[in-house]
Amino acid sequence: MKTKICSKCGEEKNVSEFIKERNTCKECHKKRCQEYAQKNKEKIRKRTQEYAQKNKEKRKQYNKENKEKINETRKKYLLKNAAKLKEYNKKYYKENKKHSLKNHKKWADENKEKLKKYSQKQRNELSDNYIADALRIPVKELRENPHLLKAKRNIITLTRNYRKFKQLINN
Ligand SMILES: [Zn+2]
Repeated sequence: MKTKICSKCGEEKNVSEFIKERNTCKECHKKRCQEYAQKNKEKIRKRTQEYAQKNKEKRKQYNKENKEKINETRKKYLLKNAAKLKEYNKKYYKENKKHSLKNHKKWADENKEKLKKYSQKQRNELSDNYIADALRIPVKELRENPHLLKAKRNIITLTRNYRKFKQLINN
């Protein structure tokens, strides 16, 4: 086993623990990198930003200078792969639809009890949603017509009370 002594921590370690051709062990090197990054956070951030900015300018310039060529290439690509792309889109759409339907069913199965309780509550409390559903109009429209909401609520309450009353007499 070939070993070396690290110039940083002074420990004797296997050569595989060292950075190639260097006298610093990997652990010390990592530590130093981390320390550097910590100390120079702002500097590094700025440099990265500058680089991105410069690159953006360059790309913009390139795109501008090669507009024709790029358009031509894109057109060629689209033409060449039109059938493939169409097929892919179709498949993707189908898969996605299948997935979301399946997911919805799964969710409904898993939350059966919760859903049941929820609709029961809506029914008992004669919520806006419940009334809108009974009238088959959107809840937004119903809320814009509060007199309608009130009337339907009264009718349902009366009907329910009437049923209760009838049951009482019959028993
Ligand atoms: Zn070391």
